[in-house]
Amino acid sequence: MGYQHMSKSILVVEDEVLVARDIKSRLIRMGYDVLDTASKGVEAIEKALTLRPDLVLMDIHLQDNIDGVEAAVRIRETYDVPVIFCTAYSNEETLERAVVTTPYGYVLKPFDNRELEINIEIALYKHKIEQDLSDTRRRLDATLTSISDGVIVTDLHGKICLFNPMAEKITGWCRETAEISSLSRIMSLKPFEEGGEQFDTRALSPGNTVVNLRQQLSRSRGGQLPIEMSTNVVQSAGDELVVITFRDITRQISIEEQIRQSAFFDDLTGLANRSLFVDRLERAITRRERGAQDHFAVVFVDLDAFSTINEGLGHEHGDRLLKVVGTRIEQTVRPDDTVSRFGSDIYAVLLDPVDSAAGAIEACQRIQKVISAPLDLGDDIVDFSASCGIVLNRQGKSAEELMRDADTALHRAKSDAKGAHVIFDDDMYKNALSFIKRKSSMQQAMNDGIFEVYYQPIISVETEKLVSMEALVRWPHPTEGLVSPAEFIPIAERTGLILPLGEYVLRTVCKQISCWNKHGIGGFRVAVNLSARQFENNVPALVASVMRETQVSPESLALEITEGIAMKNVEKNIRMLEELKEIGLSISIDDFGTGYSSLAYLKRFPLNTLKIDRSFIQDIATNTEDREITRAIIAMGQNLGLKVLAEGVETEEQFLLLRESGCDYIQGYYYGRPLPANQLMPYLKKENYLA
Ligand code: C2E
Ligand code: CA
Ligand code: CA
Repeated sequence: MGYQHMSKSILVVEDEVLVARDIKSRLIRMGYDVLDTASKGVEAIEKALTLRPDLVLMDIHLQDNIDGVEAAVRIRETYDVPVIFCTAYSNEETLERAVVTTPYGYVLKPFDNRELEINIEIALYKHKIEQDLSDTRRRLDATLTSISDGVIVTDLHGKICLFNPMAEKITGWCRETAEISSLSRIMSLKPFEEGGEQFDTRALSPGNTVVNLRQQLSRSRGGQLPIEMSTNVVQSAGDELVVITFRDITRQISIEEQIRQSAFFDDLTGLANRSLFVDRLERAITRRERGAQDHFAVVFVDLDAFSTINEGLGHEHGDRLLKVVGTRIEQTVRPDDTVSRFGSDIYAVLLDPVDSAAGAIEACQRIQKVISAPLDLGDDIVDFSASCGIVLNRQGKSAEELMRDADTALHRAKSDAKGAHVIFDDDMYKNALSFIKRKSSMQQAMNDGIFEVYYQPIISVETEKLVSMEALVRWPHPTEGLVSPAEFIPIAERTGLILPLGEYVLRTVCKQISCWNKHGIGGFRVAVNLSARQFENNVPALVASVMRETQVSPESLALEITEGIAMKNVEKNIRMLEELKEIGLSISIDDFGTGYSSLAYLKRFPLNTLKIDRSFIQDIATNTEDREITRAIIAMGQNLGLKVLAEGVETEEQFLLLRESGCDYIQGYYYGRPLPANQLMPYLKKENYLA
């Protein structure tokens, strides 16, 4: 055993010199380090405090006015050291005094080595445990003081036995007051949200613990604080204690609120964003699925020409405008309706409930009206309009489908006119679907080179001979037969496919002319229709390159344009047309009378021929007004030096009226339908139209 306590140092206090020497030598043999011996009380105190032994072996009876018990008390006042008393005899009184000092051991002389050693080892061990414990307690105290959680420990009746500084700070109560109050007074709690769980401070039990429960805490001097609390029941010395930890979550809540804001709200306008809108829409749908009989509507709102305003006035003004529009919409609808922005200039409104389709349309018109109120942006006052797509709830439609339908309706509204609104119906969906189908099958047809060109004769009224012909594209669809260009050209224009298709028609026509020329057939022009979109590219360059490639002369070609190209990039388009006219092509203005532009305006364009739209010709035999208009157009056109052509002439009566009005050229079923090239020449020969 000896070697284990080599390093433990002992002070021996013993007034009998011989006994002291005996004990000292015994201890040394046991392996202890005897620092010194003392024979008097005062001396014992001095030596203990300077030598700082690990243990004091203290004789109770000293020949001094300070006995061993007294000396031990004094030593332990300043120095925490285990003391073992030893005495030759014991009377009750001395023993009682010694017990009060809570000695670490007590040995009666004479003692044997084993008894002494066990007593010493037990004393050292007990002392060490006590020190560890007090270390732990000190550390625990430090923790409880510095911890950012409030900690309260109570018994199961709510009597507080521990209240740390953070608990003081959060609750506003001081420890002294807390420790004489009940928990229910100190922790006055309410549910965090309406209808939320409430923690009952009076019902403390091992079965009533919570983890991270949010509560509103009323503080001592008034005011509320959001807290998050956890409770735990622990066993301590046979008692059950409740440990309550809690923290102030004011900051956390404001962060959560910010996150919630950015997750569900649009930064710019503060309106709901798409996710929140979809969420509300899904709730609206669920309510109907559960049997609610009323209706709701989704309205998509899109600002007309926003990009022009945004680019023209700058993004700052653009942002300002988007905010104003958001506010205006919000002020127009009911508080329960949801207004959101889907990015860019698209807003979505959930009108819930609405009484009927008419109600939804009225709400939509109100929205359009407030949006179009002039807006003062400092240096500019802008006027703008919005288009709307509306969809009403229908059974079995998902949020995604309803939004898709609202979008389809919006697209339709935008293509109608500025400030229009369109209410979705299922035909529209079918159209949208067939649009998508058409789009891809057209792409396929283009790749496969399936498109064909038909030619329709244009006859001079004066000579009744062919002057030119119009090239009209045809789509022989594998399952649907010939699809009308009236149907697929608009789709091609929207998708951009018109660019390769237009070029394909031009090349096919030029190849055909070149082929006819080789067979000695010529002396007429073939007119090719050009879409406004083709003028986004360099048309003269394209035409020149195809003519060169096919060796066709400009005198064999004419181009038909519509008023659409007089709407955008006017100067650039005029320059391109002038270039084309200069190299020898003829330019016709197509469908004249259907658009908005006047002849006076079109005067700026380098034109050769004016084609009166079929809709005027249709009824000239029966409708005097149409007849008068047609007459006037012919006269005006010729006044401007243009040749005038009437299209869609089907009857002799129409022909005679047109001839009488001085019309130059006729195109229509009266003289012939559009035909493929190989059928056209035999037809023209048979009818004797070739010059
Ligand atoms: P458009 O340029 O006004 O062409 C005249 C349309 O009237 C042709 O219809 C023609 O077949 C039809 N038509 C001719 N005479 C009569 C008649 O007496 N009665 C009736 N009811 N109709 C007659 P189509 O071929 O269906 O073409 C429709 C439209 O498609 C054309 O109208 C034109 O705007 C466009 N289009 C056709 N081919 C092309 C092309 O290659 N490029 C471009 N960009 N558009 C084309
Ligand atoms: Ca045409
Ligand atoms: Ca036409």
